[in-house]
Amino acid sequence: MDNLKYKRVLLKLSGEALMGDRSFGIDPEIVQTIALEIADIVRDGVELAIVVGGGNIFRGINGAAKGMDRATADYIGMIATVMNALTLQDALEQLDEPVPTRVMTAIAMQEVAEPYIRRRAIRHLETKRVVIFGAGSGNPFFTTDTTAALRGAEINADVIFKATKVDGIYDSDPKKNPDAKRYQSINYAHALSQDLQVMDTTAFALCKENNIPIVVFDLGVAGNIRRAVMGESIGTYVGG
Ligand code: UDP
Repeated sequence: MDNLKYKRVLLKLSGEALMGDRSFGIDPEIVQTIALEIADIVRDGVELAIVVGGGNIFRGINGAAKGMDRATADYIGMIATVMNALTLQDALEQLDEPVPTRVMTAIAMQEVAEPYIRRRAIRHLETKRVVIFGAGSGNPFFTTDTTAALRGAEINADVIFKATKVDGIYDSDPKKNPDAKRYQSINYAHALSQDLQVMDTTAFALCKENNIPIVVFDLGVAGNIRRAVMGESIGTYVGG
């Protein structure tokens, strides 16, 4: 469709986004809702790659806080993201109008998913398959936000959508300060200097270096993925 602002999109879904109101794991209804929203934009011609987090199952830093070896804990976190990736793939392919999807993992698990090969990922996108990147970057001590920035740069994404539980970036914590104001737009340098909770600085720095804009928005509002892809002013836009 002509009114799409972005043609190739990297969508970052946190593990928590799949959790709904639960305190752990996956809410199938939420996953189904997300799958429908994704199908809607893919049908309009958007080339979509997704990086999923794993925080609804396991975070390396929490394991390390309880005495685990950090790298080992991070590998567990990465494997958790693969569970989410397969869940999302299943939901997309079970729709009445299935969306062809490929899961590619940064840690080889060839019985369950393709290994990540950049050129193959781009080819999938060109043929309108949704590509879900599992296992983060494959490296401990990183996050899936940084993975989103990295993969976004590798596939020449027009934008990174950070779909989350908050509706954008604020000048102070809206949970603590009732007068906190949401930025409509903010530049990379400002985002970096604020040490924001919404995305880590490595991710912001990579996006800045590669000039990839980020749109932070609330996934809980129905239709927001479509609004974002049309370039409507939702959430916060981070750019140059
Ligand atoms: N992780 C990692 N390297 C990566 C990406 C993720 O080690 O490149 C691990 C890390 O332990 C992290 C976990 O996987 O805590 C789950 O990812 P993340 O916390 O980013 O998920 P989200 O917060 O988006 O649900």
